[in-house]
Amino acid sequence: MRVRDLIDKQGRSFSFEFFPPKTPEAEDALFDVIVNELSPLEPTFVSVTYGAGGSTRDRTLRIVARIAQETSLTPVAHLTTVLADQEELGRIIDALAASGVENILALRGDPPPGVPEGTVIHHPGLEHAIDLVKLIHARRPGDFSVGVAVHPEGHPQSTSLEDDARYFVEKVRAGAEFVVTQFFFEAKHYFALRERAIRYGFPPDVPILPGIMPVTNASQIKRFAELSGAEFPAWLADRFAGVENPADVRAIGVEVATQLCEELLEGGAPGLHFYTLNRSTATREIYRNLGLGPRGSAAS
Ligand SMILES: Cc1cc2nc3c(=O)[nH]c(=O)nc-3n(C[C@H](O)[C@H](O)[C@H](O)COP(=O)(O)OP(=O)(O)OC[C@H]3O[C@@H](n4cnc5c(N)ncnc54)[C@H](O)[C@@H]3O)c2cc1C
Repeated sequence: MRVRDLIDKQGRSFSFEFFPPKTPEAEDALFDVIVNELSPLEPTFVSVTYGAGGSTRDRTLRIVARIAQETSLTPVAHLTTVLADQEELGRIIDALAASGVENILALRGDPPPGVPEGTVIHHPGLEHAIDLVKLIHARRPGDFSVGVAVHPEGHPQSTSLEDDARYFVEKVRAGAEFVVTQFFFEAKHYFALRERAIRYGFPPDVPILPGIMPVTNASQIKRFAELSGAEFPAWLADRFAGVENPADVRAIGVEVATQLCEELLEGGAPGLHFYTLNRSTATREIYRNLGLGPRGSAAS
């Protein structure tokens, strides 16, 4: 199913993000998590990230195809323009359509580590995510529900929050039907982004799904936050200070994420997108704390 149709039908969207595992055993373990632990929550969609190397790309394409063909879940394939020209991207888009995938999260992507100097990372005409949004629609008109990403606290390379908002609105207006945000730890960043985008003419019917990263390993998430431009606030670092036991860390992470989700939903966010890091426990605990059942309905 197309994500936008699902969101329109269900009214809200609850989704989970995974990355493609490196070995067949880890892929089977991920399928176990997806099918046995997260499927019962009937997410609106599940998304699979896309890497820079050939083998990780193949894994993404294989996993989204498996989800489309072997489960009742709706997959979203992440796709970037890194190290690929129009021709190659066109072939990937065709392959996704042929395997029954109907949703793509269109991203620019970042230069992968270790590429030789002088390598063309983004080919001419594919320098920004908006170019991929346009390419998907031109290549397969009507075949995909296309989503895009946004960074509520600004992209790490952005010239200003205002410029970021302007470019963000442009790429949505080029044909994005849903938006997933980078993770953040304070609801004010989400609401400020929404306000900025509306000032630049953001289409009000397009859902902006807040990205939620439950902290289950404080030093790992701090590192992710540094890379992604998200602030790891001092009050949050204080909550984890001196906490060593992994179960205690997870309990605090779940409590903090639950509070963030409550504020977002109360403030009108049209759903939640969970960065699962391929595990389900924290997400399921947050669901339970929020009183959410299948498809984000009230649990009975
Ligand atoms: C939800 C989410 C999922 C992600 N999944 C993946 C993944 O699976 N694989 C992966 O490799 N990476 C992924 N990323 C990371 C993403 O690829 C990087 O953050 C990348 O640096 C920017 O991608 P983008 O799509 O936001 O780019 P863009 O929309 O192109 O924006 C990048 C920067 O360029 C500016 N900009 C945009 N358009 C223009 C323009 N026309 N002219 C001038 N400046 C412009 C923007 O303001 C911004 O500062 C993900 C990020 C998020 C938030």
